[in-house]
Amino acid sequence: MARGKAPRRTIESYTPRQINTTIKPGDCVLMRPAERSNPQYVARIEWIEADVRGGNVKVHVRWYYRPEESVGGRRQFHGSKEVFLSDHYDLQSVDTIEGKCTVHSFKSYTKLDAVGNEDYFCRFEYNSCTGAFNPDRVAVYCKCEMPYNPDDLMVQCEGCSDWFHPACIEMTAEEAKTLDHFFCETCLPQGQKKLQNSHTTSRHSGGYKTATTEVKKMHKPSVI
Ligand SMILES: [Zn+2]
Ligand SMILES: [Zn+2]
Repeated sequence: MARGKAPRRTIESYTPRQINTTIKPGDCVLMRPAERSNPQYVARIEWIEADVRGGNVKVHVRWYYRPEESVGGRRQFHGSKEVFLSDHYDLQSVDTIEGKCTVHSFKSYTKLDAVGNEDYFCRFEYNSCTGAFNPDRVAVYCKCEMPYNPDDLMVQCEGCSDWFHPACIEMTAEEAKTLDHFFCETCLPQGQKKLQNSHTTSRHSGGYKTATTEVKKMHKPSVI
């Protein structure tokens, strides 16, 4: 019998012994980095293949890049658990998978009650050749006009609904957490009037949030 390339087939799912959890296409996984001192690689499984006997299992993956691995590096507004979905595909042995993880949308990440070790989020796609991001614009907030970093505490103005970093409005994080109402400099005169009339009809429940629920405006091209 001629010895050619062994035929391989696509399999629907697989349970790597080392994690004892079933993986399937669409799942996100943590993979062993080339150097042990680096953080685990984050990848999305595209499809899984094996030889005809179901051995020598390999996964086709699409890498997520961490901000440090992008051309521009980590920026102030990048979250600690932020990753970018890249256009970089690879074929890896299933043995390098060290666990499953979840890559949330930005919106669902900001709504998590607690962020676990396996929680990440992605709001940009990343072109690994050009270093370009998609989308290439992002909403900015506060006087400092920065995109939102979900790790940072922000307070929302009840007048204009913009969000502010405590430090940018000369406040400590502790002070910001105890605020009942907040109006920014621009909205302040109007806000005082409103508060005087608001004792019976206050619809505002506390003055701070650690997460935005909607991207509200797009007033400036991104500085990515
Ligand atoms: Zn700011
Ligand atoms: Zn305001």
